[in-house]
Amino acid sequence: MKWETVIGLEVHAELSTKSKIFCACSTSYGGQPNTHVCPVCAGMPGVLPKLNRSVVEYAIRLGLALNCTITRDCKFDRKNYFYPDLPKAYQVSQLYAPICRDGHLEIETEGKKKAIRIREIHMEEDAGKLVHDARASYMDFNRCGVPLLEIVSQPDFQSGGEVLAYLEKLRETLLYLEVCDCKMQEGSIRADINLSLRKEGEELGVRTETKNMNSFKAIARAIEYEIERQTDILEDGGKIVQETRRWDDDKGESYGMRSKENAQDYRYFPEPDLLPMHIDDAWLESVKANLPELAWQKRERYVCDLGIAESSAVVLTVHKNISALFETLSQKSGNSLEAANLITGEIMRLMNNSNILPEDLSIDAEKLAVLIALVTGGKINRGAYKETIEAVFTSNVDPEKYIAEKGLMMVNDDKVVVEAIQSVLSDNMDSVTEFRAGKEKVFGFLMGQVMKKLGGKGNPDMVKKTLTSMLEK
Ligand code: ADP
Ligand code: MG
Ligand code: ZN
Repeated sequence: MKWETVIGLEVHAELSTKSKIFCACSTSYGGQPNTHVCPVCAGMPGVLPKLNRSVVEYAIRLGLALNCTITRDCKFDRKNYFYPDLPKAYQVSQLYAPICRDGHLEIETEGKKKAIRIREIHMEEDAGKLVHDARASYMDFNRCGVPLLEIVSQPDFQSGGEVLAYLEKLRETLLYLEVCDCKMQEGSIRADINLSLRKEGEELGVRTETKNMNSFKAIARAIEYEIERQTDILEDGGKIVQETRRWDDDKGESYGMRSKENAQDYRYFPEPDLLPMHIDDAWLESVKANLPELAWQKRERYVCDLGIAESSAVVLTVHKNISALFETLSQKSGNSLEAANLITGEIMRLMNNSNILPEDLSIDAEKLAVLIALVTGGKINRGAYKETIEAVFTSNVDPEKYIAEKGLMMVNDDKVVVEAIQSVLSDNMDSVTEFRAGKEKVFGFLMGQVMKKLGGKGNPDMVKKTLTSMLEK
């Protein structure tokens, strides 16, 4: 019998609040070491924390989006451990009454839907960063006290594919909720993988926890690696040691860091410096009322109400910036299908070519709407349309001026078209004879020659019609 993979995820998301969770220091990434610190987040004796209300609000937002029950009376606890990145020697977290519980997130892999249960979401503070060189280790406390949400799933995943689908959807949710910027390279979203193997129908096996992956690709590799490692041990009749492992992406392997500690080791106790908090109906209702439309909800609406193809709807919602552009352009052009085609086609192609990420995209929807009107109104053909989109994208040109200057207006003049065709036909009498003898393939060649003669600006429908009738004469 084969081994079955069991995975549970603990995802940490750094919140994009302006200030830290218990003080007014900035949460902005980077900055000279120890420039975003104050006595509170540096853990000086005698200071008192003051809870940032936005952190609670962000947590409620995510909890609602992930179908959780919101804990109306929730509180903080201290998790104690000694490590130089933690100046207070404890982390303020939530163990006994996390703010959200019992949610789920639906994922889809290979056309199959599955709900991943979410055990809890809790609020906590981040630790600092250690920087090492040959001489010494240095402490940077800028990240200390940056608010985090830890999203803990049940052990419901059976493959790396399911894990990636979940992370992708969670990322998209966090982005649309504007709770976290989800920059993996900056560590603003991190996933720890708990993985064990078992024979089908048996109890859960002993698991390991793998950390330190900083891309989705690394997560997929770390999962494959761990499945293989555990399979080898179990097949040889060995036992899995419960431990925390660190992934090394360069080597493509992980190594044991420490044996896994349990809750007792952390000597958790209720945080005495923060009052328990009550989330009242009014607050909860106002957060609910202000929840934005999420990516999957947009996808459904695009497909059902706007008639957009499912695959395009997926592309249009990869990022909030893209869906915002699509919605503005649909509205300004009054043509959702053209708007969808323009973005999923030309805009995506141009972004890929110039390595522009969705979060950095800025383009004037008004100008694109003008272009849609011109092409659907028969004023420019598709070739000129594409060319002008590119000019707007790269140089932010005024589309009407650009078209006028480049002479891209479509040639709709009968006389001009007929003349062009006549000249092409007389230059290519061989092809004309072939065509009349039944070799229909030649039509495409002649059509191309006429379009070339018209400088690419011919109205293709008109050229086709006229050419057909002239050949038949
Ligand atoms: P810890 O106290 O180590 O944080 P938790 O009970 O909080 O452990 O679980 C952490 C994560 O590990 C959760 O996502 C949970 O679903 C997952 N998990 C627990 N047991 C197993 C197991 N046997 N195999 C795989 N994942 C597991
Ligand atoms: Mg845990
Ligand atoms: Zn501070």
